Amino acid sequence: MSETVIGIDLGTTNTCVCVHLNNKLKILENKEGGRTTPSYVFFTEQNSVIVGQYAKRMADVKPEYGIYEIKRLVGRKYDDPYIKKNLNYLPFQVTNISNDPVVVVQTKTQVFKRSPQELCAYILGKIKSDAEAKLGHPINKAVITVPAYFNIAQREMTLAAAKTIGFIVLKLLNEPTAAALSYYYEHKSSDGDGYSLVYDLGGGTFDVAILQRNGSDITILGVDGETHLGGHDFDNLLVEHVCQVLISQYNYNPKNDRRNMRRLNNECEEVKKMLSESEETSIILNAFVPNSNIVEIPITRGQFESKAEHLFQKTIDIMTRCLEKVNLKKSDIKEVILSGGSTRIPKIQSMISAYFNGKVLNKFINPDECVAEGAAIQAALLSKNPSQTISQIKITDVTALSLGISDFVDVMTFMIKRNTPIPVTKTTKRVTVYNNQANMSFDIYEGERLNAKKNYFLGHLEITDLTPAPPGQCGVTVVMTVDQNGILTVKATETVSNRTKDVKIVYTRGSRSDGDIKKVVVEAEENTAEDERFRQFADIKGFVYKYCIRAMYNFEEKGLVATHKDVYDKCSDVLKKLKDLDVDDEKEVIKLKQQVVPLCKPLEKKYAFKYMP
Ligand code: AMP
Repeated sequence: MSETVIGIDLGTTNTCVCVHLNNKLKILENKEGGRTTPSYVFFTEQNSVIVGQYAKRMADVKPEYGIYEIKRLVGRKYDDPYIKKNLNYLPFQVTNISNDPVVVVQTKTQVFKRSPQELCAYILGKIKSDAEAKLGHPINKAVITVPAYFNIAQREMTLAAAKTIGFIVLKLLNEPTAAALSYYYEHKSSDGDGYSLVYDLGGGTFDVAILQRNGSDITILGVDGETHLGGHDFDNLLVEHVCQVLISQYNYNPKNDRRNMRRLNNECEEVKKMLSESEETSIILNAFVPNSNIVEIPITRGQFESKAEHLFQKTIDIMTRCLEKVNLKKSDIKEVILSGGSTRIPKIQSMISAYFNGKVLNKFINPDECVAEGAAIQAALLSKNPSQTISQIKITDVTALSLGISDFVDVMTFMIKRNTPIPVTKTTKRVTVYNNQANMSFDIYEGERLNAKKNYFLGHLEITDLTPAPPGQCGVTVVMTVDQNGILTVKATETVSNRTKDVKIVYTRGSRSDGDIKKVVVEAEENTAEDERFRQFADIKGFVYKYCIRAMYNFEEKGLVATHKDVYDKCSDVLKKLKDLDVDDEKEVIKLKQQVVPLCKPLEKKYAFKYMP
């Protein structure tokens, strides 16, 4: 029987696993019976590693051995300002090794140094073995969700962590897309098609996605977000508030005491959650401040809301930005879908509802599980296991615009045409222009115009130390891939030495709005005449360029520079002039061609010039 594929929401705070089997979505409980597993890792005095609920409990007692919020460290450099900011709040030690953050835990007998990737692998390892215990057979394939705004390093580190514990990741799915999949699955008979906005605010990250539903077809139109905005930031505001009160009223600063900071963090998170239910409560700290048995700091919902208002507002601004990107008005949004634990905060709900002019928001009964459910739906869509068959949803993943590279006269080589289903791989070849050319570089573009400079610039790739060879005699094979995880890779391999160099770029259809895409396509259609003119110009310019370079190479090789100095100098002069000529200078380029070709032609024959274009 084909393997079962599970869906994993690897969260900053909690990790949740779900599977779609026999037409049902089922959250896979962990061995302790929990529907979610705290994303905690704890190192014991006996040097063993505990993950999940018990790790969280132990971390309350011995905070310096307990690691959490690992997702915030994933794929970031140590000098990243976000990491710096976080280090103020994390009770465990993070050190700098070659500008990578590495967590250090020192038990009585051993020092553990673990990268964020290794710590993620501990969590995934527990998830895997618990899911296997629950399902009664090995599981090797999974879909894992990531924040939509995770960059390449963050995505690759997540994949690497999964790989080390033996998971084949069929897809990294963006979290808000997963939430939408889960919503659509639950609301199969929703009355008709339209645009939906997913507002996903969890413990560590905020994501927005705008999707279009057309029958069973779902297309992602745009995503936006912030990889560092969530429930923990709200907790930290309360922690800061308490610290200020303790300093001013009790002359006690807890910031140097890891255990107390950990306790304070926990207490503040609980108080924050309580404020979602009641208008006021108190932060109660027992045996916390020296010489005070109990400290009670009252706090109201209003106080909390005013402290966090700037962060709440930031999420609204990001939502506005996302709507603008996809060229939609608020009123175009038919369904607003809330996911992530922090959307339980009443003020957030009222701000979103007010933003959409009093719209009723679609809330999940359990916002902590919807992302895992979406991952399970995607897993089932990719599974070959007949028990996982799913028919009511289809998710469209195609390239929105063509992808390609520019050549030395800025002509776009279209490698992957628009609307090509993802994943896809295409190859093209390039040869050197100059004698002994040492480097070859490519600009990578997205768009439909022949003049690469009129397209969206995505990135740059340069391969150096090419094998020395006459012009056109050394080449590079360029392979362009868009994989199922939204990573665009452009890889260049030198044909003589086989050396390779690659560049990776996050590629999501959602990074361009529908409006932008339409504009690009229409512009290209309207400008076919201009593009044709550019092609003619580029053809001639390219020809004259190569002609001069190769003629000069032959003069040099055959020791004819002195004998035919006038022709050699002419070629050199034409090359210099060509550099600055643009499409409007086509006549000038033709003139230069006429100056140089008749001069060289007889010599080309007489001396049997090689490699001429
Ligand atoms: P998630 O990453 O979706 O599991 O969300 C976890 C975040 O949601 C944590 O920061 C929690 O403190 C927060 N959260 C969970 N329940 C509530 C609640 N009732 N009120 C406010 N925040 C909550």
